Amino acid sequence: MRHWRDVALCRGLDPEIFFPDPDDEEAASDAIEICGECPARELCLEWAIARREKNGVWGGATVRERRRIIRRRRRSA
Ligand code: SF4
Repeated sequence: MRHWRDVALCRGLDPEIFFPDPDDEEAASDAIEICGECPARELCLEWAIARREKNGVWGGATVRERRRIIRRRRRSA
C-alpha cells in the first residue's frame, strides 16, 4: 500500500513554503493553496493533529487552525 507521503504534492518543493512564519497567517497562503489540491490532504492533516505537530502547514491547516480543530473536536466529543 502506498503511503500518503508518496502522493504528497509538497514532495520536492521548498520546505520553507510549508514552514512559514507562524505569526504571519498570510505567509501560509501558498502552502494552503497547494494543500487544497493534494490527494493526501486529509491523511496529512490527521497525521499532524495526532502528533500535535507544532510547526508548519499540514493538510492545509496552520498550527492555529489545527488547534481550533482539536478544540472543536473536544467540545463535540
Ligand atoms: S496536504 Fe499539504 S502538507 Fe500535506 S502532504 Fe499534501 S501538500 Fe504536503
